[in-house]
Amino acid sequence: MDIPEITISLKCLFCGSDLEGPEDEEYNSGDLIKCIKCGKENDYDSVLEIAKDEGLEAVKAQLQNKLKNMFK
Ligand SMILES: [Zn+2]
Repeated sequence: MDIPEITISLKCLFCGSDLEGPEDEEYNSGDLIKCIKCGKENDYDSVLEIAKDEGLEAVKAQLQNKLKNMFK
């Protein structure tokens, strides 16, 4: 079964804007990502955790749709 590609974007915990760092920047556990919109610093681990949950939900929803169509 092919799994659709889902892009996970990191979102600011405070204002919900997409967090964009410099292209070549690598974030590590414990890093703080500064939001360009509100200027607050997001804990990378928390941001990633939420992004992962959202990504999982999206994958689950897509799989359920596929299964539904299969058994029609
Ligand atoms: Zn923000």
